[in-house]
Amino acid sequence: MFIAFEGLDGSGSSTQSRLLAEKLKKNGHAALLTKEPTGDNPIGKLIREVLQHKWEASPEGLQLLFCADRAEHLKNEIEPALKNDQVVITDRYLFSTIAYGALAVNDIKWLENLNQHFLLPDITFLFKLDPKICIERIQGRGSEFELFEKQEKLEKIWENYEKIASDYSNFHIIDATKSIEEIAEGIWSVVEDNLT
Ligand code: ADP
Ligand code: MG
Repeated sequence: MFIAFEGLDGSGSSTQSRLLAEKLKKNGHAALLTKEPTGDNPIGKLIREVLQHKWEASPEGLQLLFCADRAEHLKNEIEPALKNDQVVITDRYLFSTIAYGALAVNDIKWLENLNQHFLLPDITFLFKLDPKICIERIQGRGSEFELFEKQEKLEKIWENYEKIASDYSNFHIIDATKSIEEIAEGIWSVVEDNLT
């Protein structure tokens, strides 16, 4: 089973991806917790350097790097683990490229086309939370203007996510205002139903 966690920064998706991996292992299921951008392949490293402003990539170049990273991730980690009957949990996947990348390149179709041959998850959990609360949770304290700009950006990204959730199958929208424990229980009940 292949499970993706998606949502705005600060919505709590990484927390829940970790909890789900722990819960699976506790219940005797082999699980691989992984993430995008990846940590240990050279393309993932390049992406992090761009995000840390160590060098500047063109917007299209950066999106292509995310896709190249994904191709390696699938071939080297995700697909072998699935073949071994592991449950694979990825913290962010191609929907992040589409939802976030569309702001940078202004062409959501181009991004969807780039990603159309990648394996789709069996389940995607999409975390829904007001961008204002996302910013509070990550405690981005900048100037009023920076915060406003950040909030506007996150609102646009959320609109993209909502469109994606209606265009693709097997999305579960998570009410991310709930407590960490409540959310974990909801996720577990969905996953448990899908375990053979
Ligand atoms: P994301 O990966 O979506 O950016 P994280 O899981 O890293 O989000 O969580 C961002 C912050 O919000 C962390 O400080 C985390 O402890 C906190 N957090 C996560 N889930 C919840 C929740 N359900 N309620 C309140 N705070 C949360
Ligand atoms: Mg995260």
